[in-house]
Amino acid sequence: MAPQGSRAELEFGGPLGAAALLLLLPATMFHLLLVARSGPARLLGPPPYLPELEELWSPWALLLCLTWLGLQAALYLLPARKVAEGQELKDKSRLSYPINGFQALVLTALLVGLGVLAGLPLSALPEMLLPLAFAATLIAFIFSLLLYLKALVAPASALAPGGNSGNPIYDFFLGRELNPRICSFDFKYFCELRPGLIGWVLINLALLMQEAELRGSPSLAMWLVNGFQLLYVGDALWHEEAVLTTMDIIHDGFGFMLAFGDLAWVPFTYSLQAQFLLYHPEPLGLPLASVICLINGQSGRGSALPPPFIRSLFIQHPLAVGYYIFRGANSQKNAFRKNPSDPRVADLETISTATGRRLLVSGWWGMVRHPNYLGDLIMALAWSLPCGVSHLLPYFYLLYFTALLVHREARDEQQCLRKYGLAWHAYCRRVPYRIVPYIY
Ligand code: NDP
Repeated sequence: MAPQGSRAELEFGGPLGAAALLLLLPATMFHLLLVARSGPARLLGPPPYLPELEELWSPWALLLCLTWLGLQAALYLLPARKVAEGQELKDKSRLSYPINGFQALVLTALLVGLGVLAGLPLSALPEMLLPLAFAATLIAFIFSLLLYLKALVAPASALAPGGNSGNPIYDFFLGRELNPRICSFDFKYFCELRPGLIGWVLINLALLMQEAELRGSPSLAMWLVNGFQLLYVGDALWHEEAVLTTMDIIHDGFGFMLAFGDLAWVPFTYSLQAQFLLYHPEPLGLPLASVICLINGQSGRGSALPPPFIRSLFIQHPLAVGYYIFRGANSQKNAFRKNPSDPRVADLETISTATGRRLLVSGWWGMVRHPNYLGDLIMALAWSLPCGVSHLLPYFYLLYFTALLVHREARDEQQCLRKYGLAWHAYCRRVPYRIVPYIY
């Protein structure tokens, strides 16, 4: 058997690629934060200016980030409505996970609501995004270093399939230990869906409140972006158990890639559309205006516009389609992996593999090999459309996410090929398209 993480198996361009990404990811995040608030809001090209260290570093921002992490950790430790078992590990054991992410979201919302009523200046948060992002990046670096050191004393059975090449930079980036824990506190599971995702919608809300202060009321575009992304986060936390069968949990080690992604990249770059809208109001996007023109045969104000529900339909439609595919595919696979005899999936056609696990070849997973990615991408488009088409910047998420999912799909194919061999080839023959039917 080839040693785990041997040179031939290295991902992300090996140590050189990992070193580049260590710098490139934070640099891109700061570039986006700076560009979103600049007048021209140009995605491509140099940043409007290079911030001084005083603009980035604030002990208050660090304190705020640590308090946020502490609050989410405390909510994680509250009694859960359910404790779920993860997938079987190398040593045949299974870990337990508290299912209380949605509860954490609701309690956070209550606390923030009470705080705002008591005078918490939430709308001041957008002014602090740069130092907060800097503090989150610092935390991600230090945290990843501690995780790397912790893995040095972990048993071999606790290590991830990748991330143990012997090259410190590569292993630091990819993550060495699969499920680093202290007692029952699972660091990767905690970070995956809580501080970053809930932080993202909190930043969105702060941007909405600041827009209301600046312009009297939030724009329709801001409401839509907030609503769509809150639905995405609420859904992820409501179906929290489904994360237990995702690549991040079952395959990837916990290192800088996930720690930075979860704690810094998600809240500060996924809120880009709302950041953009605060500085570049877009009351009505061009695609929306085109549809209105088509419906009405004229353009204009007031009575010429269709009712709000028709206006919002065009933008909500891709979200509804995207969400339907995304949720259907993820729930179907999760139900099947948890219990193949579950009545919701028992009738689906499957093929057997040498490992004893079966692969779905009908239902969503018979349409393309990653239907969940297709749904996610359609939703990403819906999040950008409210920002109009005058700038490329709000479409950064769609572009980056397409690249991420195409690369992620290729990684998953490699892993599945290793796991399932001939059966995976049979699946690929049966379901020839990866993400988009008849196209890719
Ligand atoms: P998936 O949930 O797609 O899981 C992939 C695994 O599913 C495979 O390794 C395999 O594992 C199993 N599988 C694949 N094909 C089949 C089949 N036909 N039948 C049964 N099982 C199958 O992976 P991800 O973790 O990449 O994605 C989870 C979700 O998270 C997606 O919706 C994705 O869009 C989203 N996501 C969002 C991100 C964001 O930043 N917003 C980032 C990354 C992902 P096994 O056989 O071992 O069970």
